[in-house]
Amino acid sequence: SELSERERQMVEDRHHVLAPSYRLFYQEPVHIVRGLGTRLWDGDGTEFLDAYNNVVSVGHGRPEVIGAVERQMRQLCTHTRYLHEGILGYANDLLGTLRETMPEAQLMFTCTGSEANDLAVRIAKYHTGHEGVIVTSEAYHGNSDLTAGFSPSLGDRSPLGTWVRQIPAPDSYRIRADDIAPMMLQQVRSQIEDLQRRGNGLAAFIVDSIFASDGIFADPTDFLKPVADLVHEAGGLFIADEVQCGFARTGSHMWGHARHHVQPDLMTMGKPMGNGYPVAGVAARPEVVAEFGYDQRYFNTFGGNTVAMAAAQATLDVILGEELQANSQRVGALIQAGLNDLAAEYEQLGDVRGSGLYIAAECVTDPETKAPDAQTAAAIVNGMRKRRVLISATGPNANVLKIRPPLVFSEQDVDWLLSCLEQTLREDLLALVATR
Ligand code: PMP
Repeated sequence: SELSERERQMVEDRHHVLAPSYRLFYQEPVHIVRGLGTRLWDGDGTEFLDAYNNVVSVGHGRPEVIGAVERQMRQLCTHTRYLHEGILGYANDLLGTLRETMPEAQLMFTCTGSEANDLAVRIAKYHTGHEGVIVTSEAYHGNSDLTAGFSPSLGDRSPLGTWVRQIPAPDSYRIRADDIAPMMLQQVRSQIEDLQRRGNGLAAFIVDSIFASDGIFADPTDFLKPVADLVHEAGGLFIADEVQCGFARTGSHMWGHARHHVQPDLMTMGKPMGNGYPVAGVAARPEVVAEFGYDQRYFNTFGGNTVAMAAAQATLDVILGEELQANSQRVGALIQAGLNDLAAEYEQLGDVRGSGLYIAAECVTDPETKAPDAQTAAAIVNGMRKRRVLISATGPNANVLKIRPPLVFSEQDVDWLLSCLEQTLREDLLALVATR
């Protein structure tokens, strides 16, 4: 073990003072003390490459965001019940990015993605008068009681609402591309019928269009448009959960739902929105949010506060000003090309897929059967960590390597990532096969 005595003690202490919910990444937990750009350092000054963190999407320690937060904190930190330029300026700029898919949208601000999804579904229920919610079978939408109730990825012991129905993910590795659109449509139709039969009706279909926790399925695109039409026919709303795929992450578009040419009724966002400062929100079509807004009290002490808006504004300014969407697309393509080269050599990498800087490589025991191989995925993730490059694994079988770096990832970072992966495959996979 590479852990120092002190670090072993820290692991131990966590068991005492933190509830058992807290899990550490990696067999050898990482103890980092500083970050800048795409790099992290431990106490000894050892450098790591962060190829996983989508919260600090404009980079760790980003001076523009730090400066904006500090200035605003010194000047004024208050909630949304006073007039302030900050919230109006940011709202206008954010809505500017939604002109095509949500042209008249209005905004509400929260502190977390969970809160945003909780609010979006609450609005959908009130607007439609229905309570049913449809999600994909490994979806994660949040940690509140309501959102956990429609987050099947939390596992069998986390009860889903009786008003929740699941559909399979669009598994492009195992389902023919042409079959995905009809499959999704048919699945949503039959779940809508079930909800209607049981008297729940359909309030909302909520979906993360990169299908992050389902195993990352970026393609094909466009199948969500007919699904949205079906949802509307049933009197339900289409909610785009952009917590993972929003803010230029997918490279081709600012928002994931735009890849599917959908016009959402509600859209939720969070994670990268303030580059680490907790800020999240909901965009809504005015018709959908009107009655809720007039009839019900909603107040969020910290949501939309002046400092949150300053952080979000600085983050958005960097994303747009540095054309990080284009960088995501360009650098993401380099990573996928490198992964495809490695997949040609190592048949354990059965499939490479993704969009922009949201990239998956699926580990299988055999490319013919495509049987998921969580052991190899874990060996690669831990092998790369040992070599100081941080990625993770996802999907229902934890066998999908997940590469999701800050949007400022550079070509040098790509070289480090790919050479580390190549070395890990070359040196560690043989050992793994030997132990089988
Ligand atoms: N939706 C999706 C798709 C997410 O990935 C997450 C967080 N992993 C959430 C919602 C919840 O966001 P938060 O952790 O900020 O509450």
